[in-house]
Formats: sequence, structure tokens, C-alpha cells
Amino acid sequence: MNDELKMFFNNVIETLFPSNITCFMCGEEVKQSKFVLCEDCEKNLPRNNNFCLKCGTPVHSNAHYCLNCKNNKRHFKIARAPLIYKDKVARSIKQFKYENKKYLAKYFSVFLEEKYNEIKKEILPVDFIIPVPLHPTKLKERGYNQSKLLAEELSKRIDIPVLCDNLIRVKETKTQTKLSYIERQENLEGACDVLNEDEIKGKVILLIDDVLTTGSTTDHCAKTLLKHKAKEVYVLTLATTDSDKA
Ligand SMILES: [Zn+2]
Ligand SMILES: [Zn+2]
Repeated sequence: MNDELKMFFNNVIETLFPSNITCFMCGEEVKQSKFVLCEDCEKNLPRNNNFCLKCGTPVHSNAHYCLNCKNNKRHFKIARAPLIYKDKVARSIKQFKYENKKYLAKYFSVFLEEKYNEIKKEILPVDFIIPVPLHPTKLKERGYNQSKLLAEELSKRIDIPVLCDNLIRVKETKTQTKLSYIERQENLEGACDVLNEDEIKGKVILLIDDVLTTGSTTDHCAKTLLKHKAKEVYVLTLATTDSDKA
């Protein structure tokens, strides 16, 4: 089945079986919930409670910082993620990214808002929300930028405007999965650019992405924004991978 046809069928299924009567993570029927998350999923949600104070990835010792942050300069001030990327969270994020379940942005933004409210007191007032951009080729392939959807839903909740077309992806990069942090940084060199510097000059930015892995992509975006005179960059992602071995 080609992609367009697949998307069409997904849309039909969405219409026939509206997503608001079942748990958006496991598909179980939800009896009574304003949040459309079943009791079981709610209870077992992998919340990210013990994390690196810089990049927000889980740490399993008493250390304040993860190894990536100990060994590398970060351009963002802090990054935070409410959830750990595993189990049902990972599954539903994959569906959100690759299976056209765009409506999930609405539910996911609840977690983003929760985390934002938690950090609000320790950060400067945010001027703009900016989603991590996709390269046009990838955007065409996927049909939408999942980070943009998250940014837009969060914007409605916290009433801060989204800037979508200023930070752009100009270079396609090879897949980062097997690269070290340093290699990732090199790979990303020149990958993003800012179109209108005046718009972000002196502004505080909240960068939004779906998943933070090593933080190299978000850090590259932060570096680009700061190079174009943004005042400060914070990162908020829905989930973070758990790769800390220390
Ligand atoms: Zn569930
Ligand atoms: Zn860290």
C-alpha cells in the first residue's frame, strides 16, 4: 500500500473509531476520564523523576549530571522531559510520528504543560516556542512535523506564541543512531539556520521536540539560535531515552 493510501485508511479508521473513547496509549476503553488515559496506563506511566540537571535524561546514581553533560558543552540552558521513552510511551510516540496519529499531540501536550509549569519558576519568561525543524525532504515523506504539532498544542495551553518558519533545517544529515556524541555534533554542523534574526534577537526561546536522545540535535538548534542572538534557549521534549549507564 502506498503512503497516501495508508494515510487515507488511517483517516477513515480515525473517523469510524474516534480516539476519544479509548485510552490513547493502550487502546483500552476508558470509562471516565478527562484525560483519556486508562487507570492502568496512568499508574504505570514511566515518569522521568530522577534526571540530569542539565539535559533532563534519567540518571540512576546520586550524580547531578549525566556523562554527556559532564563531558560536553551544552548550548541550551536546561532540557526537561516529563516521560521516559519506553514501553507504551515509546509505542504511542512511534504511532504519533510514523502512523499519522496526529491527534495524539493534544494529549501529549498535557504532559508538556505539566513539566513547563514545574520549571516556569526557575527560567526566564519565554517569548517564543519553536519546534525542532524537519528537513523539507523528510517533511514531504512524513507529511507533518510532529514537533510542530506538539508546539502548537502546548502554545494553546500556555498561551505563548509559536514561531514555525524561522529556525529551519537546511542540511540533511545521516542517521545518528550509531554515532558518538562528538560525531553527532560534527554530523550536525550547519544543519540548521535562522531566517529572520531580528525576530529572535534578545528573545527567550522554548525549543520543543518529541524525544531527546543524547540532546545533540536540540543542542545544535540551541547553538544556532544563540548564534543569531537569542537570549536564552530552554528545551522541552515529551520523552527522553534512558541511556545512563553510570
Ligand atoms: Zn491504557
Ligand atoms: Zn545531561
